[in-house]
Amino acid sequence: MAEFKKTAIPVTREEDYPQWYLEVIKAGELAENSDVRGCMVIKPWGYTIWENMQRELDQMFKDTGHVNAYFPLFIPLEYLQQEADHVEGFAKECAVVTHHRLSVNSEGKLVPDGKLDEPLVVRPTSETIIGASYAKWVNSYRDLPVLINQWANVVRWEMRTRLFLRTTEFLWQEGHTVHATREEAMEETYKMLNVYKEFAEKVLALPVIEGEKSESERFPGAVSTYSIEAMMQDKKALQSGTSHFLGQNFAKASKIKFQSKEGREEFAWTTSWGVSTRLIGALVMAHSDDNGLILPPRIAPAHIVLLPIFKDENEKKAVNEYIDEIKKEISGLRLFDRKIVILVDNRDIRGGEKNWYWIKKGVPLKIEVGPKDVEKNSLAVVKRNDPDLKKNFIGRDEFIKNLIVTLSTMQDEIFEKALKFRNENTIEIDNYDDFKKIFTPKNEEKPELHGCFARSHWCGNRKCEEAIKEELKVTVRNIPMSEKESEGKCIYCGAKSSKRVIFAKSY
Ligand SMILES: [Zn+2]
Repeated sequence: MAEFKKTAIPVTREEDYPQWYLEVIKAGELAENSDVRGCMVIKPWGYTIWENMQRELDQMFKDTGHVNAYFPLFIPLEYLQQEADHVEGFAKECAVVTHHRLSVNSEGKLVPDGKLDEPLVVRPTSETIIGASYAKWVNSYRDLPVLINQWANVVRWEMRTRLFLRTTEFLWQEGHTVHATREEAMEETYKMLNVYKEFAEKVLALPVIEGEKSESERFPGAVSTYSIEAMMQDKKALQSGTSHFLGQNFAKASKIKFQSKEGREEFAWTTSWGVSTRLIGALVMAHSDDNGLILPPRIAPAHIVLLPIFKDENEKKAVNEYIDEIKKEISGLRLFDRKIVILVDNRDIRGGEKNWYWIKKGVPLKIEVGPKDVEKNSLAVVKRNDPDLKKNFIGRDEFIKNLIVTLSTMQDEIFEKALKFRNENTIEIDNYDDFKKIFTPKNEEKPELHGCFARSHWCGNRKCEEAIKEELKVTVRNIPMSEKESEGKCIYCGAKSSKRVIFAKSY
């Protein structure tokens, strides 16, 4: 008797969540570690997800008046030094270029040569290098606002890395804007936070909480930092995007000055905002199951995969003709402005293996097509987000007629499921004993699913936040904008507090 395989991923979420995460990425062929420590290779399936994210976000940036540009990878050391908090925040993670040449030594080995007079920093973020350009471009109030985004890679020397979530080099976008007034810059900061929220919820089917970060988690050099936070299936939070109000700090550092309408010389107000390939990690951890990836249709590299089944040449011909007709009928259809992408897997491998391959890759609709289906003019459709992976026999015309509705409904179902999970695991907690209990793992050795998003009062004192972090590895994720003022006492010290915040463990 064939061995019954319980799930397609060798480790379940329940057994070992961190390992499950890595196995899903491997089985889904999203990315792998490279020989360069901490740097990943993003494989085509993973990169297509990133391209889909880029396209959707880029349109949203352009719809809100932004344009793209590109700035240098290298930052002169002196630029980074201009903003004290900024340099303190990033100094430990900077990769530094000190030489510009290689030469062959007496043992025949390549060695760095040509020492630079001033070292160059590989950008960990681009406020300072972009600020140098802005200082030249901005002279009058007529030059404002500047609304620019850059798609780029950045490098932050991480000691403990994990695919997509924390890598030494990663891909991202960084928006950098300049404004004449504080109010306008604040408005931009909120606007882009909302763009991220809309993108996360509509496109990634990822419910998020938008709010302000506490001082300790603020972007180095910013006046205030706002984030969207999502809950993963291990109940930890993943910061999924940030928008920073930089006040005049970076304008002063880079000397971005302009002549106001009244003829006064003033420092400008700036913002920056970004999301990264980390979002791919968020998708994996929020939606996937013990059989592998589950991808929301709007972001999936392909919407449909067709698996032809035949025993001989005659059947093959009939099945392939049938598949060609279906492809043709679907070719004009679009889901939210993106053409429906259909793959046909013609590889000469066993049917079972082929089936599981596509389940693990998370294609929303998997369809087997055999001679019987051709005869009946129907299709055997499996929806990836159906936990039972049930085969549904649907008439061909009906399937095509309802295809867009089917995919949109799946998108909504994936969002609703994640939202339900988050709501069930968001708990109002008002005493520290309960707080401690929910955030204490029952077995320290074995990773387990525990904790929650705790909605608790916090007095705003950094000391309380640090004490909780020290004891339980729990931090203030953000101070939600949706949270109304309410009288209460700090969960840690009992001092008066006027608002609940979100406490959680995080990535
Ligand atoms: Zn307190």
